[in-house]
Amino acid sequence: MIRKKLIAGNWKMNKTSADAVQLASEIVLAIGKVTDVDIVVCPPFTALESTGKALDGSTIKLGAQNMHPEVNGAFTGEVSAPMLRSFFTTHVILGHSERRQYLGETDEFINKKVLTALKNQLRPILCVGETLAERESGATLKVVQTQLEAGLEGVSKDLATSVVIAYEPVWAIGTGKVATTEQAQEVHAFIRTLLAKAFGEQIALKLRILYGGSMKPANAPELLSQKDIDGGLIGGASLEARSFVDLVKAAVAAK
Ligand code: PEP
Repeated sequence: MIRKKLIAGNWKMNKTSADAVQLASEIVLAIGKVTDVDIVVCPPFTALESTGKALDGSTIKLGAQNMHPEVNGAFTGEVSAPMLRSFFTTHVILGHSERRQYLGETDEFINKKVLTALKNQLRPILCVGETLAERESGATLKVVQTQLEAGLEGVSKDLATSVVIAYEPVWAIGTGKVATTEQAQEVHAFIRTLLAKAFGEQIALKLRILYGGSMKPANAPELLSQKDIDGGLIGGASLEARSFVDLVKAAVAAK
C-alpha cells in the first residue's frame, strides 16, 4: 500500500492543559513507538505546548484544530501558523464543519488558511462534508466537490502531497450515526478522482483521505478496509486513551 494510514484525534474544546498531558502520556505509553500508522493528536491551543512535551520522544505528532490565515497582526483571539510551528505542531485541522456551521467560515477563508499552512510547513487536514439535508436532497457529491476544489484552490502540485483530506458527513459527527462503508467509500473514491483531476493520478494516489464521523473501535475495521479510506479523524473516541489506542490498532491491522 502506498499510503500509510493516519489516525488523528480532534479533542475539540476539551481537556485542560493538565488533562491533556495525562491523556497524551497514556497514549504515548501504549502506542508511542508505532511507525506502521501515522498518529496525530490535536489538543486545544491552550494545551499545545504541554501536550507537545508529553509527546516528545514518541512517534505521535502534534496537530492544532484551527489557525488564522495571516501570520501576525491585529486579529484578537486568533493564533497564527508560526505560533503553532513554535510548539512543533506539524498538522492543522482546517474547515471543520463546526467552524463552518457555528463560526461562518467560508470556503474562501478556509482556502487562505490552507495556503498559509502549506507556506509555513504545516500539513492541513482539510475537512469537507455534507449536511443531512444536503445528503437527502442528493447534493452530497456536489457539496463535497465545491468544498474540496475551493479549499485547494492555488495549491501547487509540489505541495499537494502535504495535504490530508478528511471526509466528514456533518450528520455523522458526534451523533453516533456512522456513514455506511459504501456511503463513505463512494465519497472517498469521488474525492480521489477530483484530486487526480487537480494534481494528476500519481499525486492523487499518494494523498490520504480520512473518514470522520462517529468512528469507533467497533466500526473502524470495516471502514478502514475500504480502498480509499486512509484513516480517521476522530472526535469523541479520541478523548479516552483506550478507544483511541484501539482505533490506532485497527488501522495497524488494516494497513
Ligand atoms: C470530528 O469532529 O472531527 C469527529 C469526527 O467527531 P466524532 O468522532 O465525535 O463524530
